[in-house]
Amino acid sequence: MQLNEYQKLAERTSNPKLTPWQKMQNGCYGMCGEAGECIDILKKVEFQEHEFDPNRLIDELGDVLWYVAQTATGLGITLEDVAQGNIKKLEKRYPQKFTAEQSIHRPEYERRQS
Ligand SMILES: [Mg+2]
Repeated sequence: MQLNEYQKLAERTSNPKLTPWQKMQNGCYGMCGEAGECIDILKKVEFQEHEFDPNRLIDELGDVLWYVAQTATGLGITLEDVAQGNIKKLEKRYPQKFTAEQSIHRPEYERRQS
């Protein structure tokens, strides 16, 4: 499935009464809630002796994705736009590949310190 196809299918289950602004709000709030559910799975594994079930985490990732799509729809952009923008940013940050050195010494961090 392609990202934009997913976004359209996800939109089918969004409240049609929401304005674009409300979709963006719902998306941002929901993303945080679902990210918290991801953390909760790890918390239970680390501190409450639960077995790690990757399927539960995969399920929560899907929920995060739904809210990312909702946010993008509220902003009037596609998930493809979001993905391309992110890759472009990362290519600038790590022209060859990830290095800890480039992660630590990001130009945007260096500017703040001076
Ligand atoms: Mg969930």
